[in-house]
Amino acid sequence: MDTVYYLKMLVKDFHSVVMATLNDEGRPETRVIDLMLYDEQGLYFLTAKGKNFYHQLQEQGYISLSGTRDKQAVRFDGFVRNIGQEKLAEIFIENPYMAKIYPENTRQALEVFQIYQGTGEYFDISNPSHIERDDFILGDAETHACGYRVNEDACIGCQKCLSVCPQHCISIRPNGKAVIDRHHCLSCGRCAEICPVQAITKSI
Ligand code: SF4
Ligand code: SF4
Repeated sequence: MDTVYYLKMLVKDFHSVVMATLNDEGRPETRVIDLMLYDEQGLYFLTAKGKNFYHQLQEQGYISLSGTRDKQAVRFDGFVRNIGQEKLAEIFIENPYMAKIYPENTRQALEVFQIYQGTGEYFDISNPSHIERDDFILGDAETHACGYRVNEDACIGCQKCLSVCPQHCISIRPNGKAVIDRHHCLSCGRCAEICPVQAITKSI
């Protein structure tokens, strides 16, 4: 799936996500934030200028978020920027409940933030014996292919890894080397532990 598919899922299906910044002591601090809009340039949410969260966003320019629903989950780490009251009117049209929280001109207390760059991960465990996972990137973030991989040059084709994989997502190529289907991998690491020649490695 492409990035916009997951951005839409975050806004329309999950809507309320847990978002983390760092507090004054450098420790993680979370709160539930509603994601209001999405487009090809990113995700949009808002907060009031009087909140600690607002000042943390201004100083740090970075968030980590997680959302979940019906055994599906998305996590995302990325950069945010303040776009002032741009898109504020659109947010209130698309999310009418906001007009009850901030009636009439009290919405002037709010500013909009855009998440414009970062990397995300999707998990679906609704079928526990055949989980689904995917990665996506937003903006100019570097592609990251996290998870376990087989180094074909090192693999001796012993098939020990196949026997311990809880998701049965390792197969043998026609050349006799093992390969991991990362779209079903739990990143549990059992295959790497049992490999006799350390042919399986983890990238962050
Ligand atoms: S990390 Fe776990 S789930 Fe992924 S391929 Fe290895 S054994 Fe299978
Ligand atoms: S356990 Fe290691 S050497 Fe054996 S098939 Fe798997 S990756 Fe290859």
